[in-house]
Amino acid sequence: MSFQTELTGIVLSASPVDDYNYRMVVLTKERGKITVFAKGARKPTSSFLACSQPFAYGKFNLYQGREAYNLNGAVIEEYFAKLRDDIELVYTGMYFCELAMYYTVENQKAHQEVDLLYNTLKAMTQGRMDLALIRSIYELKMASICGEAPLPGECVVCHGKEEIAGMSFIRGGCVCREHKVLAKDFMAMVPAAIYAVYYVMVNAPEKIYSFRLDEQGTADFINYVTCYMKRFVGRRFTSLEFLSMMCV
Ligand SMILES: [Zn+2]
Repeated sequence: MSFQTELTGIVLSASPVDDYNYRMVVLTKERGKITVFAKGARKPTSSFLACSQPFAYGKFNLYQGREAYNLNGAVIEEYFAKLRDDIELVYTGMYFCELAMYYTVENQKAHQEVDLLYNTLKAMTQGRMDLALIRSIYELKMASICGEAPLPGECVVCHGKEEIAGMSFIRGGCVCREHKVLAKDFMAMVPAAIYAVYYVMVNAPEKIYSFRLDEQGTADFINYVTCYMKRFVGRRFTSLEFLSMMCV
C-alpha cells in the first residue's frame, strides 16, 4: 500500500538506475532528505526528465512506499539552468548539494536548509557577489543551522565588548586585544568580518547574500570559514576535488 503526498524540496542528486530510471536524493522541507525513484525519467520524452535534475526546486507529488518514494509529478518553480552553463558554477552548486546531504538526515524537517540552498543557488545565478564569498557564507550558515559554530559577541575571557581582535575555536568565540595571547588558535579578524559572521548566523537565508565587505573583510571572513570547515567537517567532497583540480 502506498500513500500520496506533496513535499517542497530541491533535488540534491540524481543517479541512473537501469536504462530508464533515476534514483534521486531530494531535500524536503517537511521530511528532510529522502530517496525518490523517478520511473521512466531517463526517456527523452518523459515529463519527469527535467524535474529529475540536480538543483530543481519545487513541489514534488510522491507515492510513499516502505523504503522510498516514487515520483508521481512535480511543479518546478526554479531549475537554476543558468548554473549548468558554467563549469565552476555547476561544480560549486554540486558541492553545496553534497554539503546539504552531509548535514541533513531523513525524517527531520529541513525548512531552513532548503531555504538556504535555494537562496544560495539564486545568489549564484544573480552573480552580484564573489563566488568564494558565497561559498563561505553557505558553509557557515549550514554549519550554524545544523552543526555548531560559535556566535561572535563579547570576549570569551573578560566578557568585554571593546577591542575585539578576532576569533578562537578553542576558546569558542571572540577574543579581545588583551586576551588574544591566551588563545592558541587566535585568528585576527577586522570588525567588519566578525560582524559578517554574526550577521550570517542570525539572519534568515533570504537576507544573507545582501551585505558588502571590503577586500580585507572578505579575506578574513573566508579564512575564518575555511578554518572552521577544516577543523569541524574535515571530510572530502567529490565535487570539491573536481573544483580544486579545475583551479590548478
Ligand atoms: Zn578579553
